[in-house]
Amino acid sequence: MIVMKFGGTSVQNTEMIDSAISIAENQLERSPLLVSSAMGKTTDKLVAIADAAVAGDSELAFSIYEDIKASHFLAINGFLSGENLQFATERAELLFEELASLVKGLSLLRECSPRSTDAILSFGELLSTTIISARARERGIETILLDSRKLVKTDDNFNAAVPIMDKTGELIRGAVNPMPNRLYVAQGFISTNMDGATTTLGRGGSDYTATIYGSSLDAEEVQIWTDVNGIMTSDPRIIPEAKTIANISYDEAAELAFFGAKVVHPSTIVPAVDRKIPVLVKSTKDPDGLYTTISPASGNTGLKAISTKKNITLIEIKTGRMVNAYGFLAKIFSIFEKHETSVDIVTTSEVSVSMTIENRSNIEAIIDDLNLFGQVSVEEDKNIICLVGQDLWQDSSVTSKLFQTLEGMPIRMISLGASRINLTLVVPETSCNDALKRIHAEFF
Ligand code: ADP
Ligand code: ASP
Ligand code: MG
Repeated sequence: MIVMKFGGTSVQNTEMIDSAISIAENQLERSPLLVSSAMGKTTDKLVAIADAAVAGDSELAFSIYEDIKASHFLAINGFLSGENLQFATERAELLFEELASLVKGLSLLRECSPRSTDAILSFGELLSTTIISARARERGIETILLDSRKLVKTDDNFNAAVPIMDKTGELIRGAVNPMPNRLYVAQGFISTNMDGATTTLGRGGSDYTATIYGSSLDAEEVQIWTDVNGIMTSDPRIIPEAKTIANISYDEAAELAFFGAKVVHPSTIVPAVDRKIPVLVKSTKDPDGLYTTISPASGNTGLKAISTKKNITLIEIKTGRMVNAYGFLAKIFSIFEKHETSVDIVTTSEVSVSMTIENRSNIEAIIDDLNLFGQVSVEEDKNIICLVGQDLWQDSSVTSKLFQTLEGMPIRMISLGASRINLTLVVPETSCNDALKRIHAEFF
């Protein structure tokens, strides 16, 4: 069997939904399970509803609600008829009623917990899959609509839940019986905890859902259908001349995703690794065009791609006490642990430690605690530039070319990843795009 996941842009309107269904129809022999994101920017709009409700602006919340409702009914009335129209209309009406009462509740309380956010965000995928499954039936395809909330079980970490894989696998295998000429349709991104409360896998999490289904059903392949021709040498929105990478390893793809390449969710490859399931990244705008295969080993070394990550904060501690004295770093890191903040990059010298963090929500408390160990300085508005490729460091010409290319540019931190596949630079946000363009032009 195969799993095919379609992102928001790929199901944003009736034409795109029909293209997505055609891509699935062409592979019906391969027993497909289709995972879909919410249509277009629906999830962003649901976030805006929650924000408006918390701000006490229920008028705004309900105007966004009406906008979402109108676009979904436009699709429903656009290409459905008979019992398929009735099914989708009834289910969508029900979902919109539920959403309306949630929004009312939040507007009254003016509070939205992570738990309530997940409940609100889940409507995007519930609506899109209602429409897609009805349309697939309308086109004569035997279609079964699944409910990922009943099948994907997670911990209680609302907004970024982690699946409990053995339980999830059991449930999925119990509910899904893939066979040729049958199409299963499931929501990406959404799940429930062990108490049955709705959770989500984090923004962009539908990619992750796809490999969760794939590994549970031992898929021969997982296809991620998106709006670009696979994973490219850099974000094509910043570097228009970026090229498709034909083959990339699980580790390289994970590193790129973690350091900012939005094209796949950072956890996507985790479930694929054990069963060595190939993950293909393809374009719905160009279904027969270039694409990327992510697999256990790409077979080649050298620089593959460059990603960037914005809004990074750099924290430096200078101290007379020896940084290298044993236990010192452990004490520093325990502060970050206490404040539930993960550190991405670390460099040390005899007199200082520099670290980067992304999540600033507990920064005041972290600084207060770090002040006990030395002089703390904080620099905001930094970016990470991450060069990814197997055994990058073995070729010394890479590093020498890199630093020549960046001559005259300020670099605040450099780290060669222990995984041997990344070389990371921290630069001021203002020079990031320029640095990226120079590096891309030099190496690709
Ligand atoms: P989807 O809705 O299909 O999940 P996303 O918007 O999440 O799509 O991801 C696709 C986008 O990722 C592309 O439009 C592109 O701008 C961005 N992107 C960032 N880095 C890369 C990269 N290295 N290769 C391809 N796309 C990238
Ligand atoms: N709809 C969700 C989001 O926009 C999940 C996804 O698209 O992968 O984040
Ligand atoms: Mg995405």
